[in-house]
Amino acid sequence: MDLFEYQGKELFARWAIPIPEGKLATTPDEAASAATTLGGKVVVKAQVQVGGRGKAGGIKLADGSDETRQAAESILGMDIKGHIVERVLIEKASDIEDEYYASILLDRAAKKYLLMVSSKGGMDIEEVAANEPDALAKIHIDPLLGLQSFQVNQLVFGSGIDAKARSGAAEIIRRMFALFIEADATLVEINPMILTGQGEVLALDSKVSLDDSALFRHPDFEELREVVATDPQERMAKERDLNFIKLDGDIGIIGNGAGLVMATLDVVDQAGGRAANFLDVGGGAGADDLSNALEVVLSDTKLGSVLVNIFGGITRCDLVAEGIVDAVGRLDVRVPIVVRLDGTNAEEGRRILSVASHPQIVPAETMSEAAGKAVEVKV
Ligand code: GDP
Ligand code: MN
Repeated sequence: MDLFEYQGKELFARWAIPIPEGKLATTPDEAASAATTLGGKVVVKAQVQVGGRGKAGGIKLADGSDETRQAAESILGMDIKGHIVERVLIEKASDIEDEYYASILLDRAAKKYLLMVSSKGGMDIEEVAANEPDALAKIHIDPLLGLQSFQVNQLVFGSGIDAKARSGAAEIIRRMFALFIEADATLVEINPMILTGQGEVLALDSKVSLDDSALFRHPDFEELREVVATDPQERMAKERDLNFIKLDGDIGIIGNGAGLVMATLDVVDQAGGRAANFLDVGGGAGADDLSNALEVVLSDTKLGSVLVNIFGGITRCDLVAEGIVDAVGRLDVRVPIVVRLDGTNAEEGRRILSVASHPQIVPAETMSEAAGKAVEVKV
């Protein structure tokens, strides 16, 4: 479960990680009164689960309640890479002297935790790793031994952050690690972690993912979950028991089995397309599952085409075809649906689709042909 910035910061506050003082607002009026309460200059920050909000116009500095109201008016309702802004975080503006990066994640391949600290904050960490490896300190932590003091020192000194920031950063790293373990997180990232003109070290942004499988251990996180599930399309998918993840492209993807869907995303990418979502109907999917899946995917208004990629094992392609025919019969289908069926009862499935002869259904033989067509027929 991925949290919004303000939710991650709620956890930061509980684990005593210093953050700027702030308030959440859902209307321009609430934003204006938050600015009055906070006093002085503030930043208005769009709460969407996508990076690069600043560049997209989703972060604005404001001075006083009028400017804050105006900034909130322009940001609320904004579409940032397919995510509509429903909330803004109003925070006391920070006097930034330097920006750093700190993160903890689960490195499944190494079977360890991976901690990273960099003196180059506010930018893509992959870029730092590629271009300025000396500015990035990485350490693996054995889960049985936990984080040791010497490792914190290695991170702080190895990353080359300013001497003035070392003790504050070290404290934040220890608390991040405690949060990561105690909250059953899979990712805790602070980008940027800043040094202020007053010599304080703060978390200016937050990115936290919690392990869904461990949520039962945290009944107090229920509230976080309710908010996270408010994206209308994701809620729709959840109600229909479908594994759905929204992405920012325009080709809707439906497949059976997580591995096949992942491979489909790759093939679409190779064909020059961008996936609008990940949707796995699961093994043994029937007509209803397919029909529901199409309903969820087609509800995205920015769609150019849909690619249905089914490899029938337990799943029967004839039932899949029936589900598709049912969906196109009851839904308003404005975009082409490329369908590739292979495996169990594939021929019967293709026959059902060709009998239905719906103008928006485009058959494809292979996965790569299907991906190429999905890009080609986009409206
Ligand atoms: P992201 O672009 O979505 O990751 O959003 P961030 O919260 O990381 O903010 C992006 C950038 O906005 C930061 O790296 C800062 O440079 C700038 N920024 C955010 N908050 C403040 C603030 O309080 N004061 C100033 N001066 N800049 C800020
Ligand atoms: Mn950031």
